[in-house]
Amino acid sequence: MTCIAEKKHLHIGVLALQGAFREHVDHIKYLGHQPVEVRNVKALSEIDGLIIPGGESTTMGKLLNDFEMLVPLKELISSGLPVWGTCAGLILLAKNIENDSTVHLAAMDVTAVRNAYGRQLGSFKTNTSIGNVISDFPAVFIRAPYISKCDNSVEVLSLVDDKIVCARQDNMLVTAFHPELTDDTRMLEFFIDTFINKN
Ligand code: GLN
Repeated sequence: MTCIAEKKHLHIGVLALQGAFREHVDHIKYLGHQPVEVRNVKALSEIDGLIIPGGESTTMGKLLNDFEMLVPLKELISSGLPVWGTCAGLILLAKNIENDSTVHLAAMDVTAVRNAYGRQLGSFKTNTSIGNVISDFPAVFIRAPYISKCDNSVEVLSLVDDKIVCARQDNMLVTAFHPELTDDTRMLEFFIDTFINKN
């Protein structure tokens, strides 16, 4: 008898306190999974993985603190919750921020530089590859950070102009750019396949 494995229906959280969370929600639906807009600690316990969207990292960090989610989320990440930070999400996950004295979740061994491209290059789009898994990915940068330094245990997945714009460490993935603002869902598929469905 042939047994066709049922596709696992995942609950993928998107931190929805501020920023570009709706676009991630749409991409999750498009891939046939269940998006969960995360606005409190309870929702954090109902998800298979979490996306921290782009937006304003100072505001998002403050809201996480105000809603008493910062410490529980930090604990969940250190106990292995798959998490993907895009843009401001990268800044929130960084253990160091070169041009800001306040760190937030401080989970990943990277140093982020905020608004790293200056005014002239406040926003731009370029094609890049992600490791040897994704080629020609349309990367949209909006007042984006990059990673200026990282620990040896961090795997660099993409460079744009010699700057690190995508990296992973353990259960964490970060992109300085915004895949949710394009029609290309390969980055989300990569997060799902490599971080959530890895077994
Ligand atoms: N510049 C923003 C910050 O520092 C990040 C921008 C973004 O998420 N598009 O928080």
